[in-house]
Amino acid sequence: MTRFLSALPADLAGKRALVRVDYNVPLDAGQVADATRIEASLPTLRWLLRRDARPVLLSHLGRPGGRPDPGLSLSPVASALAGLLGTEVRFFAPCDGEGAVRASRALKPGQVLLAENTRFLPGETANDAALARRLARLGDLFVNDAFGTLHRAHASTTGVPALLRPAAAGLLVERELKTLSALAQPRRPFVVAFGGAKIGDKIELLRRFAERADLILVGGALANTFLRAQGVETGASLVEESALDIARSILSAGGDRIRLPTDAMVLVRADGEGKRAESVRSVGVDAIRPGMTALDIGPESRVRYAEALRGCAAFFWNGPMGLFEDPRFAAGTFALAEAGAAATAEGAFTVIGGGDSAAAVRRADLSDRVSHICTGGGAALEYLSSGRLPGLDALIERRRS
Ligand code: ADP
Ligand code: MG
Repeated sequence: MTRFLSALPADLAGKRALVRVDYNVPLDAGQVADATRIEASLPTLRWLLRRDARPVLLSHLGRPGGRPDPGLSLSPVASALAGLLGTEVRFFAPCDGEGAVRASRALKPGQVLLAENTRFLPGETANDAALARRLARLGDLFVNDAFGTLHRAHASTTGVPALLRPAAAGLLVERELKTLSALAQPRRPFVVAFGGAKIGDKIELLRRFAERADLILVGGALANTFLRAQGVETGASLVEESALDIARSILSAGGDRIRLPTDAMVLVRADGEGKRAESVRSVGVDAIRPGMTALDIGPESRVRYAEALRGCAAFFWNGPMGLFEDPRFAAGTFALAEAGAAATAEGAFTVIGGGDSAAAVRRADLSDRVSHICTGGGAALEYLSSGRLPGLDALIERRRS
């Protein structure tokens, strides 16, 4: 069983709580561009501060590749966090070494210490044992509240809890797990929608969901792979060739519970007379030709998918219906977001579980009108498909030994 904050000793006064948070936030000109993930960490930090524990925070940001990269420093996050939490947040670089240990011991009650990007060190993603030992010296107990990185076995996620006890999952992780577990025994009708581009990562999960969902809506580049598996011409569209066999078996097992787009928004490229012309058209899926790229579901599919959500009791959505970053191919994704919000208003339990799908729902200004948006797409997918996460297992094993 996963241990949560409530399982920690009652007296935490003065204890340094080493907290792995997920501050992998977008930066723009050295400023935090979206503080959603910082806000998501506040309940756990407030819980610890209320008990007079001294929080020491570890996080990664981006992919610096094991070297310091000033553009990926967590220092702007320290000021954003201070503003949101209303306390003094000290910042220390690098995140390991004697200086960091001293800074953690010097923390005064009410202060928080944020250490520099863990991925500035090569040992983080390599799950280096020596780095884990150095990081473990920053705390007297460990809390993992970085839901978005629980599927990674890195020094700060699985290495540290193997060395530092007690160890527990934070309030954000607890809330995410509760929500995702509810989807294991969903209310019915249970509708799922899958889209996006990371087909290799998702097709196995889709297969599992196809077994228990009442209706499966497929969009995004994923839909092209399913159409191709049925022998439909997909032109220049993104198709995952290696997933065609599994797509075929999902289609034959799922029967008419699986819905594919009947039309698509395509980009048409015509080369002629030295200049290239580009146009966008909606076509039936049987009219996709070489030279066309399907980048969104079409208007008919939009309506069909929205109707499919009417009356559902639970809805899980991973992956945008199209290339929504381009306004010409955003309508399918936004229509599904609207339909999800409408279903929520009718009492359905609706969960958005993917980084880009979550961004799309936010861009449509509908985040407050769905039941739950996961803060970690990859972690959510892995937990939903296997029921396990390396970062959680590390907490449990520690408690047993
Ligand atoms: P999520 O982060 O929600 O799990 P993915 O990472 O799998 O989703 O995919 C998101 C990306 O898929 C988006 O950047 C989107 O533009 C892209 N995408 C969606 N539909 C298509 C398509 N038909 N062709 C190419 N890219 C697509
Ligand atoms: Mg993504």
